[in-house]
Amino acid sequence: MTLARFGDFSVDRLVELEFPAFVTREFFPACTADELAEGQKRLGPLITDGGDLLMSFHSFILRTPKHTILIDTCCGNDKPRPGRPAFDMIKTNYIADLAAAGVKPEQIDYVMCTHLHWDHVGWNTRLVDGRFVPTFPNAKYIIAKREYDYWDAMYAKGDRNNMHVLSFEDSVLPIKRAEQAVLVADDFELEKGLKLEPCPGHTPGLVVINIEGGGKRGVFTGDAIHHQLQLLFPHLSCRADTDMVQSTTTRRALMEKHAESGAVIMPAHFPMPTAGNIVRDGNAFGFKGVTP
Ligand SMILES: [Zn+2]
Repeated sequence: MTLARFGDFSVDRLVELEFPAFVTREFFPACTADELAEGQKRLGPLITDGGDLLMSFHSFILRTPKHTILIDTCCGNDKPRPGRPAFDMIKTNYIADLAAAGVKPEQIDYVMCTHLHWDHVGWNTRLVDGRFVPTFPNAKYIIAKREYDYWDAMYAKGDRNNMHVLSFEDSVLPIKRAEQAVLVADDFELEKGLKLEPCPGHTPGLVVINIEGGGKRGVFTGDAIHHQLQLLFPHLSCRADTDMVQSTTTRRALMEKHAESGAVIMPAHFPMPTAGNIVRDGNAFGFKGVTP
């Protein structure tokens, strides 16, 4: 199902998982009981009665006149993720669902990674004969060098209890060894109308991906914004942010830049509506879903 169109570009959403994944006041440590209650009242099913955040884990399939591109690759199958039972050694129908969307793995020309957290790189690789190998044999994987270097250094320190270090080992290094990784500047332009922009904070090298075509603009925001609750309360940073102060600054700047601009915002974890416009709401913001 087409989520958005930008001239000759079309975007589909490929969902791997969608469920109430995290406890709101753990995920956003600064969230007060009043803010949670307000969020529950205003955001309906996006926060459960029990106070959990409904989260989607999806990729975007981006078709351009030249290329078939996958943006972020979710959690992946057969990956050990100790301490996270909902994500540990999971088996989903991601590849079959990709085929149902009309795309075989060998048809992917590029995988673009907004950042290298475990829930964004999982399907970079898959398990074959006991080894993780690139899932998309003909793809180049576009990764910001700043982001790669940060996790490479973390990996070198050897903290194997860190989920992101584990995923660097099983979902990023095999891509590098297969010479399918392309490390780029964080303002890299892949083709006309498709350009990275640095947005550090959640991770040091996180990039958002700007798309422009047919007079329309859009932004794949990765994890610069996790949940609609952060539009209501822009000061709420996620516990997984490398730098919770910097992420607040870059997140608010992103919201300010795109509020009432008509740009179609496409975050990595928003359930439907996954594509929408940022609207002003007093000192804060709201999200208004759009159709293609
Ligand atoms: Zn994420």
